[in-house]
Amino acid sequence: MSEYHLLINGTLVAGDNTMPVVNPANETLLATCPRASEAQLNAAVAAAKAAFPAWSATSIDERKRVVNAIADVIQANAAELAQLLTQEQGKPIGDATGEIYGTAAFFRYFTSLDLPIEVLDDSPGRRVEAHRKPLGVVGAIVPWNFPMILMAFKVPPALIAGNTIVLKPAPTTPLTTLRLGELIRDLLPAGVLNIITDANDLGAALTAHPDVRKVSFTGSTATGSKVMAGAAGLLKRITLELGGNDAGIVLDDVDPAVTAPKLFQSAFQNSGQVCIAMKRLYVHESIYDEMCEALAKIAEQTIVGDGLQQGTQLGPLQNKMQFERVQELLDDARQHGNVIAGGTTLDQPGYFIRPTIVRDITDGTRLVDEEQFGPVLPVIKYSDPEDAVARANASPWGLGGSVWSGDTERAYALAEKLEAGTVWINKHAELDPTLPFGGAKQSGIGTELGQEGLREFTQLKVINMAR
Ligand code: NAD
Repeated sequence: MSEYHLLINGTLVAGDNTMPVVNPANETLLATCPRASEAQLNAAVAAAKAAFPAWSATSIDERKRVVNAIADVIQANAAELAQLLTQEQGKPIGDATGEIYGTAAFFRYFTSLDLPIEVLDDSPGRRVEAHRKPLGVVGAIVPWNFPMILMAFKVPPALIAGNTIVLKPAPTTPLTTLRLGELIRDLLPAGVLNIITDANDLGAALTAHPDVRKVSFTGSTATGSKVMAGAAGLLKRITLELGGNDAGIVLDDVDPAVTAPKLFQSAFQNSGQVCIAMKRLYVHESIYDEMCEALAKIAEQTIVGDGLQQGTQLGPLQNKMQFERVQELLDDARQHGNVIAGGTTLDQPGYFIRPTIVRDITDGTRLVDEEQFGPVLPVIKYSDPEDAVARANASPWGLGGSVWSGDTERAYALAEKLEAGTVWINKHAELDPTLPFGGAKQSGIGTELGQEGLREFTQLKVINMAR
């Protein structure tokens, strides 16, 4: 069994405690992982604080060189990292490989950006410039569904902007992050990037630490709200990427046979454990039966199993808590709708739930109103598209949404009315590092990715000079 270490001040160290990491595909012990104590958290923050003056004084080109070098290492070790990611997270190896290469690509993308000084006024009376200064120590907190790519929303822009970092992966998926830390530690000056792990018990201390200037958090809305409260005392900068309950609205003019596979992929990739997965599907009554049948057929044909096995299309739920929660929502949904595909676990160890289609269900039920974050899709019938939009918007969340139609003008008119950070037309959940990404309503605060995602790791400073 491999050994894993925390990364504190450029040194690989054992945790003051340990914790088990379980493979969700067979429920066996994958590794014993270090678990940091609060003293180690404090040491990591102190190291990041000490490293900040020198790192923020390096040129942006030097910082980009380092970020590119990290991307090289990720790519060179993609096979090993992908294997580990599948073992701890559960996703099929092809998807894990995609996530690792995507991570390298996200690192590289940020090296194409700059933070130039903007001249706001250059007149006879004055010269005014806008500068973008690094903030200091950034706390980066990541969930368990995409441990690598979500880390890549935060680490490269934070580094390029000149900040130092304490990174904390989720307790059930820490290994790929720790292994990456080991691979890249010599590329960075000591203390610039520190990695600690916890058992869901250090997030609050990291958030409230007086030497942490910004918290970049991805996770559930409930925890995001705690992060906001924890950051309030010292008015820290926060970026919150939180939960969602994305609606897809299918108009009456699509061909179910052509659209169903795209809808299925939008809802079920990563076994539905995607913040921007399609989590409820509104289908026009004229094609409702046909669409339900087409989706059920795909669900029945989908191969569910260990992500390391060739041919697997969907892996397990990532952890036992989520496995139990999705089953609870499914049990409730049986009282309010008809399960026409899936609805079962696999008769073997592992947190597997077959892709499940629930029809004849509607708003006001738990499966429709809550974020299931698993492979169970409610399909809801509607007759008036305006009413479908109103129902889609009647949610505390507003991460993403989509409209599907053969007539893009019709789709566009409805897309304009959806309350969400991103609305797609005839697709869903496309993620691209060049496009800003953020949530409306309780799906988040602030923006990641794109130029705006880089700026979020800076403080705007105006220099106003008389002449
Ligand atoms: P979670 O909120 O339980 O945990 C996320 C991270 O927060 C973990 O690292 C956890 O250890 C840490 N944490 C726990 N308590 C904390 C505290 N009090 N203060 C600070 N940090 C704390 O979320 P999860 O269950 O790991 O992830 C699933 C959720 O994440 C879903 O709701 C999903 O929609 C959301 N998500 C959102 C995005 C997005 O970009 N909007 C992306 C992926 C996942």
